[in-house]
This record gives sequence, C-alpha cells and structure tokens, in this order.
Amino acid sequence: CGIVGYAGSVHTACGKPLEVCLQGLGRLEYRGYDSAGVALSAPGMNQVAVRKKAGRLSNLVGDIEQHPMPQATVAIGHTRWATNGVPSDSNAHPHTSADGKVAIIHNGIIENASQLRLDLQAEGYHFSSSTDTEVAAKLLGKIVDAIIEQDGKPDLSKAVRRLARMLTGAFTILATDCRQPDIIVGARHDSPLVVGLGDGENFLGSDVAAFVAYTKRALEIGQDQVVCVSATNVEVTDFDGNVIHDCPTFEVNWD
Ligand code: GLU
Repeated sequence: CGIVGYAGSVHTACGKPLEVCLQGLGRLEYRGYDSAGVALSAPGMNQVAVRKKAGRLSNLVGDIEQHPMPQATVAIGHTRWATNGVPSDSNAHPHTSADGKVAIIHNGIIENASQLRLDLQAEGYHFSSSTDTEVAAKLLGKIVDAIIEQDGKPDLSKAVRRLARMLTGAFTILATDCRQPDIIVGARHDSPLVVGLGDGENFLGSDVAAFVAYTKRALEIGQDQVVCVSATNVEVTDFDGNVIHDCPTFEVNWD
C-alpha cells in the first residue's frame, strides 16, 4: 500500500535511513494499512535486517525502540493493505530470499504468484507467508544467485529487471541486497513510483508524501521501468536494460 525507500552512504548519519522510512510511512498512513515493516542494509551485513509487525505503525516503532536495529546505509519501508493472505506479522512486508540476503516490499497484486510458488516449491523452496510478495522475494533471490554464478558478482538491477519480466499483475517493488548496501532498486508496472532527489542522498516513494519532508525535487518513474538509486546517482532503464535518458523532474509545491 505505502512504499518508502532511502539511499545514503557511509557518510550519512547511520540512523537516518530508518528514520526516513518510519517518517515516510507515517506520512503515508492516510492511505490505510494493516501492517508495517522495514529492511536495512549496510556494509558488512551478512543478511538484510528486517523488522515487521501487524497492526499500527506505532507497534513497529515501539518494537524498534525496545530492540534497536543496526545502523544502515540504505533502507526500505512498507505499509501493507493485505490482498493475498491475512494481516499478520509473517505476511507483513518486507519478504526475504531463502538466504536472507535480499529483501523486497511490494504494492499491488502479482497474478501469476500461485504458479510461480508451485514451481519454486517443486525446486525445494519453503515459504513462511501466504503472500504473493514472498514468491517474488524467493524468485529474486534465485535470480541473484544465478547472476552471481554467471558474472561472479551480484547485480540487483539486472536481477530486478529479470524478475519484472516474469511477473504479471500490478506491482511497485523496491529491493535491497546486503551485498550491495549502496543501492535500492525499484520497478513498476501499473502502480506508481517516484524518486525524491536529495543532496548526497536520494529517496523513493509510492507517492511524494513519502519524502516531501526531506526534498521537493522529484522524478517520476514511467510504466515498465526500473530505477537504481544510490546516494549520488539515479539510473532509469526499461525492463530490458535500455537506459532512459532525460527523465522529467518536477518540483513538489506543497506547504
Ligand atoms: N499483494 C501484497 C500482499 O497482499 C501487497 C498488498 C499491498 O499493496 O499492500 O501482501
């Protein structure tokens, strides 16, 4: 339902990625939701750090206050409005790959999730939720592994493009891989995604409310495009990897 992302660097205040996500999710509460969660990556992490809770955003915030999360360079945050699977801690986003190194959040409905789930189960994949989103998470992990096998290193942008070509239905997806803790990768089809342009940091949101507290300069991601966002760079491609030049930017004129 609501999506926030943040890409900073080792020079960013380490608590900022989480702060931006929680702040942004608060701004997106007006859309309605039943659960909330975040995922963080930083150099040296062995797995993405994930925290998620059914219920109000304040449940998640309270849990994080009691059990603080590690410091990070990049983060993604989600408020869920359940379509596939009841509202619960395990069905809340983010969802992770089998090895826990990749996490995704998702708005929308993946229509071919049941078939993809059966295929992955036949290959031995286990699921800890009944969501369509976890299917995309397990599949993305599998794609990243295949790319590492082939190229000798992970490539989250390439992996998300390959994932996006395999999904039907409506989706905005953000992904983080703890082996690439300097980027967040997003993709969209029939569901919105906006980038907020900062100075030495960049933001992502399902709408500008997600980051308007931090920047008013924005760039809209087009239909069937993938964006790779770091602290200092924003690269947009189509699902086949062709670079989109001169993406139109705009100023958010809110008070
Ligand atoms: N279909 C996904 C789910 O049920 C995402 C729902 C949403 O857009 O929040 O978990």
